[in-house]
Amino acid sequence: MEKGGLWKRVLAEKYGIKEGYWLTCLKEGRPQGSKWWRDVCKIDQGEGIMNNWVSLGFEAKLGDGGTLKFWSDVWVGGSALSIKFPRLFLLTTDQNATVKDMGTWRNSSWHWELPWKRQLRSWEEDLEKELLEIINTTHPSQNKEDQWSWHLEISGNYTTKSAYSQLSKGVPRHEGDFKRVWKAPIPPKVSAFCWQLLHRKLPTKDNLASRGILTDIASSNCCWCDAFPESHDHIFLHCNLAYSLWIKCYKWWGVHYVMSNSCRMVLDQHKWTGGNKLIDRGWNIIWFAVVWTLWLGRNDWIFNKKEVKADCLLELVQIRSFYWAKNIAGMDGFSLQAWCENPSNCLKTTNKRKDRV
Ligand SMILES: [Zn+2]
Repeated sequence: MEKGGLWKRVLAEKYGIKEGYWLTCLKEGRPQGSKWWRDVCKIDQGEGIMNNWVSLGFEAKLGDGGTLKFWSDVWVGGSALSIKFPRLFLLTTDQNATVKDMGTWRNSSWHWELPWKRQLRSWEEDLEKELLEIINTTHPSQNKEDQWSWHLEISGNYTTKSAYSQLSKGVPRHEGDFKRVWKAPIPPKVSAFCWQLLHRKLPTKDNLASRGILTDIASSNCCWCDAFPESHDHIFLHCNLAYSLWIKCYKWWGVHYVMSNSCRMVLDQHKWTGGNKLIDRGWNIIWFAVVWTLWLGRNDWIFNKKEVKADCLLELVQIRSFYWAKNIAGMDGFSLQAWCENPSNCLKTTNKRKDRV
């Protein structure tokens, strides 16, 4: 295929855009906002849509910083600063500021000046330090324009071949997730929810903030502890309430794990117990029951002002997992009470039946 053929064809056929127009947009540095550009950037990988495959290959080269958005363009550190520092993004006085707006030249040396809506708290100052460490690795240059280049070719120019080979490699994917989530014996809406969770696509407050949907800093904290921003890992793992629910489940099942740092890693821990195959399958269901119960509890708290306690959540996990466990062939003949008392024992007994799954 000729150089840039894919884009030219898409733009010409779908949007009637003249050849070379996208190049002009790229040179101007701000093509991301338009509808046609967003469509071009979107690609269906079979396991979900990747919204910005183009960003895998394009790299912003910082010149004077006049056209690069400080928070939303990827110009340092490999990802947008709004995604890396959602809390600070909420606190900045101008979310659309360019890199150039965020500092000044004094005696030919560049000084970062980060304006905040209010004085930072001590833990936010730590975030600011972390941010400064990243941005201090580079600085704008005077009298030099910002540039975009295609880093998959030495020439810096886009070619279809390099784009195709990058997309074939894909972004890091967890091949087993699809089967584990969509074949699990749980209601489809729970599968859909867990799929979003594993891809960090739930409308948690930090996600809403990084997209500019939630702008109120006061309401971006976790509803349960009000001490940390509500992120996926926080509400499902690190918040005291979530953590104590996991620990209660470990006790209930008599398993011993060190809590992992991400929801996906905890799902991996729910693959295997050292017992029989049915016990493993039952233990796997618990991960789905816990994250689903935490999410419903979080929504109840936010939207219905309903307080939740770890003990009540554990009961809900037990009831949900009991009914879901019944969906697995071979798992029946035990009561809810027996399940709550000793789930492994229930599954050991049912193992006498033929496991048809
Ligand atoms: Zn919390």
